Amino acid sequence: MGRVEGKVVLIAGGARNIGEASARMLVAEGAKVVIGDLLDDEGKALAADLGEDVARYVHLDVTSEEDWAAAVDVAVTEFGKLDVLFNNAGIFNGAPVQHFKREQWQNMIDICLTGPFLGIKAATNALIAAGGGSIINTSSIEGLRGTPWAHGYIAAKWGLRGLSKSVALELAPHGIRVNSLHPGRISTPATDAMPEGMIQIPLGRPGRPEEVATFVVFLASDESSFATGAEFVVDGGTVQQVPMNL
Ligand code: NAD
Repeated sequence: MGRVEGKVVLIAGGARNIGEASARMLVAEGAKVVIGDLLDDEGKALAADLGEDVARYVHLDVTSEEDWAAAVDVAVTEFGKLDVLFNNAGIFNGAPVQHFKREQWQNMIDICLTGPFLGIKAATNALIAAGGGSIINTSSIEGLRGTPWAHGYIAAKWGLRGLSKSVALELAPHGIRVNSLHPGRISTPATDAMPEGMIQIPLGRPGRPEEVATFVVFLASDESSFATGAEFVVDGGTVQQVPMNL
């Protein structure tokens, strides 16, 4: 308990699943959270459940610079500062490359890559004002490898990994650490509906949102004080596999 005592964390895409588990664990470890999402009912209910003294909900479309400015403002005005930005919002769609529509591609890039960029842009001055902090960007194991059909997602998640590294170097002098998080298959209603066997997981099961949230707490906390520009993989061994029939 108390691993992130007193820290103020803005979570983009915080209303459910990995974002919700992270909000709950961060609060249990002493943080105050601002939950930003498009899902107003779920986000408000989560903030109310966590308690008004430690949680707020703000409507946040990560593709909107105005929404980002308002979300950072909620953290600073309601809780006095911003220490951590958790860029967790994301969507997924896929199709064979010749059928993948330009609008689908653009939507993926907008939400999964431009969104986190706008968040970093909006939060940086507040993080500097707090005397330093941490930015955590949820990429994926799809930001470490290629996968058929998921072209927009792959490109966005690789891009987010690269963005993390360049911003890490730029903001290091301000004491702001920037790392990317690379979950494998994590159990949510959406991934549970995916066909069995699509992904081989050496540990033999999908992860739980809480098994990602614990990395979020670590990267938000001072325990990770020497980690920046790095990749944190939590995937049950998935990306380590090399086919044996080569
Ligand atoms: P999820 O869909 O439950 O959560 C994503 C959240 O982002 C949702 O609350 C959604 O409303 C929000 N969101 C979507 N578009 C938004 C926008 N424009 N503005 C603000 N919020 C928006 O999915 P999840 O499985 O909890 O995934 C969370 C993150 O982890 C995503 O970035 C996802 O790509 C990544 N990820 C998930 C898995 C997995 O297996 N579940 C694996 C690797 C990476």
